[in-house]
Amino acid sequence: MAIDRRRFFRVTGLTALGAAAAETLPGSAPDGGPDPPPTGLTARRWAMAIDVARCQREEGCRDCIAACHAAHNVPRFENPKDEVKWIWKEPFEDALPEQHHEHLEARLREADVLVLCNHCDVPPCVRVCPTAATWKRDDGVVMMDWHRCIGCRYCVAACPYGSRSFNWRDPRPHVAALTPDFPTRTRGVVEKCNFCEERLARGEPPACVAACEARALVFGDLEDPESDVRAALGERPALRRRAGLGTQPQVYYLL
Ligand code: SF4
Repeated sequence: MAIDRRRFFRVTGLTALGAAAAETLPGSAPDGGPDPPPTGLTARRWAMAIDVARCQREEGCRDCIAACHAAHNVPRFENPKDEVKWIWKEPFEDALPEQHHEHLEARLREADVLVLCNHCDVPPCVRVCPTAATWKRDDGVVMMDWHRCIGCRYCVAACPYGSRSFNWRDPRPHVAALTPDFPTRTRGVVEKCNFCEERLARGEPPACVAACEARALVFGDLEDPESDVRAALGERPALRRRAGLGTQPQVYYLL
């Protein structure tokens, strides 16, 4: 079930590594989504499955979070009110409250569950944005254009998962080690997980997936019956966060 790197590349159509990603970095016009360059990974519908049990194997592991935040110049603030996050962990009862009850088995009741933007099929954040600064690509990735964001925070209010963060302060002095491979943001804009669209364009899997030694994260094309993500979902029961809201999240939890 864990992602097999060679199979991942074959399934998703990788033809070469190392392509320039500049054309598809955030900042591209929200016209429904530029086609990824021919050297990148492509899918009809990107999705992720998270194996909750595997994710718990090493207590306190935060490798995926560190990799994501380092790759995307995510700032770290001491004051929780200023927090900016793309991927993080929440107690089971907060991440999947509909599944929580007093007799739930301990391994789940006590689990910290990895959460991120769900790249919803029906994303309310996109619907409320007055400047089209956020949009859904044809392959399902919900994008952000920070040049268009006016900081109204309608999207923050509309997202039922808390997946969007607002930069109340200039984030740049609070990035541990700036990488030139990804744009920094400014005070007054919203940001969130982008399913590593810049890495997909270079032919690489998301940073969190690549960093996970437990192989708890499976990423691939939901429309491809041969993909690992489809195999994972076909083998085990899977849940989505607050699925009853009708947002159609595309991050699945294997229990
Ligand atoms: Fe939008 Fe939130 Fe869904 Fe991500 S999880 S697509 S930010 S509604």
